[in-house]
Amino acid sequence: MRILITGGAGYIGSHVAKALIERGGCELSILDNLSTGSQATLEALARMGSFQFFHNDLSNKEALSEIFSRNRFDLILHFAASVEVFESVQNPLKYYFNNTLNTAQLLDVALEYGVKKLIFSSTAAVYGEPREIPKEGIDEEHPLKPINPYGQSKIMSERIIQDVARAHPDFKFVILRYFNVAGADLQGRIGQATPKATHLIKIAAECASLKRPWMEIYGEDYPTPDGSCVRDYIHVEDLAQAHVRAMEYLIRGASSDIFNCGYGRGYSVKEVVQKSKEVSGVDFEVRMGGKRAGDPAILVAQSAKIREKMGWEPLYDDLALIIKSAYEWERGRW
Ligand code: UDP
Repeated sequence: MRILITGGAGYIGSHVAKALIERGGCELSILDNLSTGSQATLEALARMGSFQFFHNDLSNKEALSEIFSRNRFDLILHFAASVEVFESVQNPLKYYFNNTLNTAQLLDVALEYGVKKLIFSSTAAVYGEPREIPKEGIDEEHPLKPINPYGQSKIMSERIIQDVARAHPDFKFVILRYFNVAGADLQGRIGQATPKATHLIKIAAECASLKRPWMEIYGEDYPTPDGSCVRDYIHVEDLAQAHVRAMEYLIRGASSDIFNCGYGRGYSVKEVVQKSKEVSGVDFEVRMGGKRAGDPAILVAQSAKIREKMGWEPLYDDLALIIKSAYEWERGRW
């Protein structure tokens, strides 16, 4: 299998690259513009196994075509994207260019060079503010009503992929809708290296590692048990394995489909902050802040489908373990 990972120097892409290196049986190529992905992550991956690296932006069609013409990829894992909800509210066009248009461009080149399989990183943000939240979480059939440009840019990408698959019956895809991904390689070799990251567990890990003097909780009057937002946090190692399963699913000829990736259990921002203090033993300063634009109150996944259809079984469904791996990685990278 010749595999192209776009965004492979980034957080989730690099953990999937690691999982594929460990699995073996793949020739890996990573394409990344290194806007948020890091050279250090690539170096850490290179110590685990070999891959080709292309320092390119997906918007550069000429360069993309050149890469595809020289490499006959069997499957693409497409991670390269902008991923911050609040930034997408302030700068929506960045999201429509980087996420939606670049996905269309990648598909165009992929079709031209006969690539027939795609695994696409999507997000729970496509669901928006769930209308009612069943106890077992939101399933894949839940109405799609994104409340921020990030979610919009991803749902448009999903629809483009689905339309392409309808027009080209031998083109198959798996769309994975991630809930809140956190944690790091359990051996501490790679982690969430994105500069100026805005994600909760990363920020709490920076506070606990004394790299940040304090943090804010964005809103405490949401309609949730303690007033702060509730999210379903999934360990990046479990998410990486979901991609390995998705790849095997496509290889065995299964039909195109969409799957949630989460544990089906929600934790509030306040619970995450408290657990970060317990795990690290550091009582960092926490301030109450205003609500952040674009944040839904509760997002929890129903993940029965991926478990049943792909046999995915998470190994690290444990908030303390997720936080511990994020914290230990953060502390180790001064
Ligand atoms: N959050 C917070 N303080 C921070 C970062 C995040 O209170 O410094 C909250 C945020 O408002 C949201 C939750 O934590 O309710 C998860 O946010 P994150 O950015 O990690 O992921 P998102 O759900 O936006 O993809």
